[in-house]
Amino acid sequence: MFRKKKIFTVYTAGAPILKKKAHRIEEITPEIADLGEEMIGAMAAFDGIGLAGPQYGSDLRIVAFNVPMHEEEGFHSPGEAELLPMMPLIAINPEIIESGEDLIEAEEGCLSVPEIWGNVVRPATVKFRTQLLDGSTVEYECGGLLARCIQHELDHLNGILFVDRMSPEEFAEIKPALRRLESGGAAREYKRKIKF
Ligand code: ZN
Repeated sequence: MFRKKKIFTVYTAGAPILKKKAHRIEEITPEIADLGEEMIGAMAAFDGIGLAGPQYGSDLRIVAFNVPMHEEEGFHSPGEAELLPMMPLIAINPEIIESGEDLIEAEEGCLSVPEIWGNVVRPATVKFRTQLLDGSTVEYECGGLLARCIQHELDHLNGILFVDRMSPEEFAEIKPALRRLESGGAAREYKRKIKF
């Protein structure tokens, strides 16, 4: 009935690992599966819908997704119909094969950039390919919040934060708060902890 609480850590803006390109996972070992499980735990603890390896201190191309399903709204894409029922989901070596032409602006936030939100323009749809923990590879056209989350998380694997993609005008508005977060982070090794 009672479960021992665990402390989860997520790295925040200013941490060098968030600026690095993550490495491809060559083999899906039990350690990788354990890392995936830990990341799902951390994502739940911080109430996120996505968490990429670098945010959890790993330099590997692994992402945890927990994009919510709003079945009553219907699915925008085959990827949502297939992947949303599988959430939480671990993606290994995820890739965007192709981006749709339509662009859409939406507000984003990030567990690594707490209390800062900003508008980012991204393609509305992406063709997404990833390995799953069982070693299989899936490929789907994805839209909606899933497409946005995929692009945000895959950016993390390439050392990019959503704030890097904001318009210069809007970035200027959040810049002081971001710089405060970065400089304040140094004192706590850029770690944000939560007990869950
Ligand atoms: Zn993020």
